[in-house]
Amino acid sequence: MDDSLYVKMVTCPICGNQFSSMKAKVKSCKVKKKDEDFCTHYEDLNPMYYEVFVCPICAYAAPETSFDEISEKEVKLLKEAFLGREVGRSFCSHRSLEDAIAVGKLAIYTAELRKANAGVLAGLCLKLAWLYRYKGDKQEEHFLKYALINYLEAFDKEPLPIGNLNEISMIYILGELSRRLGKLDDAISWFGKAVSNPERKENPMIEKLAREQWALAREQHKGSK
Ligand SMILES: [Zn+2]
Repeated sequence: MDDSLYVKMVTCPICGNQFSSMKAKVKSCKVKKKDEDFCTHYEDLNPMYYEVFVCPICAYAAPETSFDEISEKEVKLLKEAFLGREVGRSFCSHRSLEDAIAVGKLAIYTAELRKANAGVLAGLCLKLAWLYRYKGDKQEEHFLKYALINYLEAFDKEPLPIGNLNEISMIYILGELSRRLGKLDDAISWFGKAVSNPERKENPMIEKLAREQWALAREQHKGSK
């Protein structure tokens, strides 16, 4: 087995099945570049392929960080939804990009079934969009759109941080997703808010990115007229 991979034992909180799932050591994965919406590209192994655990029996799927964070009510809801479900596929070993995409969809499906909040859905949609970006697949846009819709709802209704996004990062990502989706007026407005946000002093990297992307969005806006 690749040195960068290891196996972790997991217990499914829905069906009680114990299974082992492969994981990547993030520190041993070499970063090639980062896109302006925080999508990281890796030289070889991409640890994102292994972030979500999938139970091979009932197909409950959730990121490792929140796999066990589930209420009794949600367990009951999912048990009923998964009744008679046949997975027919295991994602516990090496994963290809196609596997990671299938797993990303399962995680979104599970989150929707358990009525996860918009911030959680947004994060899952953004990661699935990135997987489609690695593949060069136009479905990326579809999931960027879902990520934006859900982040807008989350920013309106949920307490910060949303995922690992503080206020200025949240405002910035709303700008960058808007820009990528051609909503340039919205993008310019969000970036403007990011560069004047009080948190900018503690987040100089975000402020720098916001200024660069603000200028880019204004250029694109001029070009589109
Ligand atoms: Zn299970």
